[in-house]
Amino acid sequence: MTYVCADCGFLFYRAGEIENCPACEKSNIRSATEEEAQKLQELLEQENQICGERSKKPLWN
Ligand SMILES: [Zn+2]
Repeated sequence: MTYVCADCGFLFYRAGEIENCPACEKSNIRSATEEEAQKLQELLEQENQICGERSKKPLWN
């Protein structure tokens, strides 16, 4: 389930119910629209790509 904070606009994913925003800790949480969920998915995929590129490089370089 994808949620969005109506207060600060923070997008996040949780498997279960959530009452407070992880970013601002307010309880103005609503379910994200399909468009917003898609946006979060794209952001997560971008992050995975960056991590994948980093892991190819030696740590000591
Ligand atoms: Zn928030």
